Amino acid sequence: MLFENVDIIDERFEHQLNRWVGVCDGFITYVGDKAPADAASFGERYDGRGKLLMSALYNAHTHSSMTLLRGYAENLPLQIWLNEKVFPFEAKMMPEDCYWGTLLSCAEMARFGVVSFSDMYYHMDHVARAVEESGLKANLCDDLLALNGERLDDLPLRATVDQLISEVHGRGGGRVLIDCGVHSEYTTNPGAVADMAEYAAKHGLRMQLHCSETRLEREECKRRHDGMTPIKYFESLGVLDLPTTAAHCVWVDDEDIRIMVERGVSVAANPVSNMKLGSGFAPIARMLEAGVNVCVGTDGMASNNNYDMLQDLYVLALISKGSMLDPSVVSPKQVLFAGTRAGALSQGRDDCGLIAVGMRADLCVLDVTGPSWTPMTNPLFNVVFAGHGSDVVLTMCDGRVVYRDGEWPTVDVERAKAEVTARTNRIIGQL
Ligand SMILES: [Zn+2]
Repeated sequence: MLFENVDIIDERFEHQLNRWVGVCDGFITYVGDKAPADAASFGERYDGRGKLLMSALYNAHTHSSMTLLRGYAENLPLQIWLNEKVFPFEAKMMPEDCYWGTLLSCAEMARFGVVSFSDMYYHMDHVARAVEESGLKANLCDDLLALNGERLDDLPLRATVDQLISEVHGRGGGRVLIDCGVHSEYTTNPGAVADMAEYAAKHGLRMQLHCSETRLEREECKRRHDGMTPIKYFESLGVLDLPTTAAHCVWVDDEDIRIMVERGVSVAANPVSNMKLGSGFAPIARMLEAGVNVCVGTDGMASNNNYDMLQDLYVLALISKGSMLDPSVVSPKQVLFAGTRAGALSQGRDDCGLIAVGMRADLCVLDVTGPSWTPMTNPLFNVVFAGHGSDVVLTMCDGRVVYRDGEWPTVDVERAKAEVTARTNRIIGQL
């Protein structure tokens, strides 16, 4: 495909007018201010007038199967939400429920310009099947839960992850990757966490965690582990020796932030989920200033409840300014970087998340002709503060169109909606 005469957000996250962007064999092969000499060799020519082309979005933390729980458990504090509502529902979920939940998630993400996500859950072979079929990308981990002092070798998880590595890792031309995961400090024990870190190091895998989501989690962690905060605790067990994405990091201090910078930890901020569950406001401005790779996650659909990531970016900017009492912190450029390139880097996808020659063609096109986009005095501010996921008219992942003008070429959305509704009703009927 050759995008013609299209305004873009370039690799420096600056707005450029009237560009030509060529895509061939899944990669961006041309970016210029005039048509390439070999313009005739491209397939479709896409008229970019009235459109804005930017990197697609990377959702750095979610639980895609949880689409089934959208709207199921509301207005509850996190521990009650988790223990009394979410865990009992999840105990009834079958592999095919995860497949359909994920497939619907993929369709919704594609609709909102998201091409890739990091996911912690179970039945990951079925989740992977949905990702592969949808044409999206994902870093999947079946995360460690070890509440009763078990070590990794005592748990069925060990064999599950072995199998995921040998059968799923790298599928879909590298679109599906397997990570290791630790659910959280409060659902595991130190021995098992250290085992998981050692296992990940041995297999060269990345790590995903929930970390310092609530004040209670932080205080109880300190009480249980000689005053160590969750970040220090994970560092002490070797987890941060791995390329790690720590979701939430709402309750972190300057020492935690220093460790995250030193260890190259990516923080998946989940601003909407953290507010919805009343967990607080992560110190995004301080983390960015210190040099943390801050990326953005939606979290699962029980705590968001949608995949419109432009909303999450909007909220990220607003809470940062509001909580710091400073409108100059966390610029639109930083927000867009967090939603795109930083997310790709957190997944180890170094050739993703920028519009530049040689990068993978993960792109989204926004229709910018609507009233809320006018005038285009500062397009970056318009994207973050006036844009909506519903402005996305085309989403491309590795050069393949996964959403365009109300249609999903890779997913039967009506079927996925019907399956998710029926499966949710079945589980609620069993509870
Ligand atoms: Zn989560």
